[in-house]
Amino acid sequence: MIDIGKYTKEFKELITASDHILLICHINPDGDAAGAMLAMRRWILTQGKEAGMISPNALQNFLLWMTDTDRIVDFHHNQETGAAIIKEADLIIMMDFNTSSRMGKAEEFILASPARKVMIDHHPEPDHIADLIISDTDRSSTSELVYSLVRELNNGDFNDKAFSEAIYVGIVTDTGNFEHGLYNGDTMRTVGTLLDQGVDKDRILNRVFSNFSADRIQLKGYALDKRMVVLPEYHAAYIWLTKEDLEKHKHQKGDTEGFANMLLTIAGVVLSVLFIERSGFTKISLRSKGNFNANALSRMCFNGGGHRNAAGGEMAGRIENAVTHFRSVLPQFKQDLDAAALEVGL
Ligand code: 5GP
Ligand code: MN
Repeated sequence: MIDIGKYTKEFKELITASDHILLICHINPDGDAAGAMLAMRRWILTQGKEAGMISPNALQNFLLWMTDTDRIVDFHHNQETGAAIIKEADLIIMMDFNTSSRMGKAEEFILASPARKVMIDHHPEPDHIADLIISDTDRSSTSELVYSLVRELNNGDFNDKAFSEAIYVGIVTDTGNFEHGLYNGDTMRTVGTLLDQGVDKDRILNRVFSNFSADRIQLKGYALDKRMVVLPEYHAAYIWLTKEDLEKHKHQKGDTEGFANMLLTIAGVVLSVLFIERSGFTKISLRSKGNFNANALSRMCFNGGGHRNAAGGEMAGRIENAVTHFRSVLPQFKQDLDAAALEVGL
């Protein structure tokens, strides 16, 4: 775990010295990306400063209840406004990503900006795209890192309802409500404080994890029944959903959230992959158990990245390309997959 105290002075000075602060999160923002960004802004407000917020594309519907989401500029749909805010910014804070391609179409505008830049993130091996990099892979979520940073800056817990809720959303998102991902005693002490501050965990749980359409539940059933492949010799399993499958089930953004994790509950499986076909390319989500490095596989095969146990990437073309490619590289990972299975006792 990093010593967050080492960063507070420089961070505070940057905030104090800046008049046009901009926060940006990664494309397809999840609860952690949105939560970290929304929470950071709440603290910046206490310094007598405003901060703009950009998301490279739209937030998923189930996050829209969060306080201040109406202030987030969706760059994909409002490029002109987004570009103007970026141009004006003298401080840009990048949240929950470690490489500039995660900013989608906003990337070129951000890279062209002479503003000072900060990265706050928990992904491994951050690219050096910021003047100040606050990166800690030992945190459950960027939101947990923001919580610690703000506690240091604030000389104590920051008690603000929207802040606390946003942090809680980030932590439960990245840990699947404490089912997977990385969390430890510090995470739980933070969660304890958030609950003491009055965060309504049941309300948040319902909004984040129990807020799906009936079509989505049927898509899940269809995926498991018709589109699941288990490869016991590789301790791997995958689900593949074509564009037509998604259309048939009236797919909405966010409907396949959580599908990537499902197959890790099969005995013996330490690698679970979800292939989702989009227009002209396939999105790949990888989840793993133990020491198997899904990030390395994603970087190598799908031009992607992420964490050791949760990564993602893309591949051009129809879904068959991506699935065939995956199956063709699997033998190279067999030793690592066997070792991970042994390690986690499967
Ligand atoms: P998900 O599978 O939920 O989309 O993403 C899982 C993890 O992988 C997240 O930490 C996310 O930041 C990362 N990730 C997902 N897609 C990509 C991608 O296309 N490129 C990179 N570098 N990381 C990704
Ligand atoms: Mn995250």
